[in-house]
Amino acid sequence: MTPYDATSPQEVRPLIDGFGRTVSYLRVSVTDRCDLRCVYCMAEHMTFLPKAEVLTLEELDRIASAFVGLGVRKLRLTGGEPLVRKGMMDLIKRLSRHLRSGALDELTLTTNGTRLAQFAGELARHGVRRVNVSMDTLDPARFRRLTRGGDLAKVIGGIEAAQAAGLAVKINAVALKDDNAAELPELIAWAHRRSCDMTLIEAMPLGEIEVDRTDQFLSLKDVRAQLESFWTLTDIAHRTGGPARYVRVEETGGRLGFITPLSHNFCESCNRVRLTCTGTLHTCLGRDDASDLRAVIRAGASDADLAHAIRLAVDAKPQGHDFRIERAAAPAVARHMSTTGG
Ligand code: SAM
Ligand code: SF4
Repeated sequence: MTPYDATSPQEVRPLIDGFGRTVSYLRVSVTDRCDLRCVYCMAEHMTFLPKAEVLTLEELDRIASAFVGLGVRKLRLTGGEPLVRKGMMDLIKRLSRHLRSGALDELTLTTNGTRLAQFAGELARHGVRRVNVSMDTLDPARFRRLTRGGDLAKVIGGIEAAQAAGLAVKINAVALKDDNAAELPELIAWAHRRSCDMTLIEAMPLGEIEVDRTDQFLSLKDVRAQLESFWTLTDIAHRTGGPARYVRVEETGGRLGFITPLSHNFCESCNRVRLTCTGTLHTCLGRDDASDLRAVIRAGASDADLAHAIRLAVDAKPQGHDFRIERAAAPAVARHMSTTGG
């Protein structure tokens, strides 16, 4: 197969949904597998997808590149854990042609960091400039418990390797009432001391897990109020193409983002769609809408057919989600974050 050339003039109209929002950002979950089992993300015993259902690297490249051809400027690879997918560096290398051609502004990934030390140099060589690393605590025992067995030292080693390779690192942490609420100021200060931006995320009701999410949920409005009792937070216009709203913490000099899908919904400015590793396109993280792009390409679709299928899906992007965290309520959507791609 010839790699799709996103610069060919066959489709130039931007991807605009039925509410006038331009879709310029694609997140691709390259695998549903992971070497960790974070308690808010996965059940302890997950059933992973059979290989035949998962897109091959060529298929991932073809669909992602079709989006680039339709005006997507930012591509984030995620999972599951993207760095556990075999051949991941080949995929990144292939996709990096869109950076060189100028069709893509950014190729990046979200990772748990456990394998970053191994891959940081190669990522940098292929044009990746920044990565998001998820790390919810600085306490090794708590990390082990929250990830069901993870080794914090590997993640910190990964962050250091990434920075040594010249990558900017943003730390993501899910705010969890009992598990890390008290520790968040220390985590933020740690990130800022290392010149990392930091983003806090509200736990979202995605997929069945063992615990009741009401017990874990912590509103970032409350976290912000608590931080403002001893720090000065100044709103800034900094945006990274995602939903985070940023402040500068004057005392640390670092940037802090808040992703608040529950306490403040940001759907009106949503520019994103998500592709799962099985080729299902979800145009909203919090809705059950889905388009099967794998079926389209495995039926032998031409690039024009694929572009048409993408346009149809984007046209029907829902106006927004309506997450609620209520005791004993079913998750807003049945799929886990690791399937949709965080
Ligand atoms: N494994 C990689 C990682 O952990 O960064 C990438 C995939 S993970 C699903 C992406 C992000 O989603 C992580 O920052 C994780 O903390 C977050 N996440 C997972 N489940 C979540 C949930 N139910 N609510 C909010 N964030 C969640
Ligand atoms: Fe794995 Fe990331 Fe989910 Fe944790 S949040 S279980 S690291 S996919």
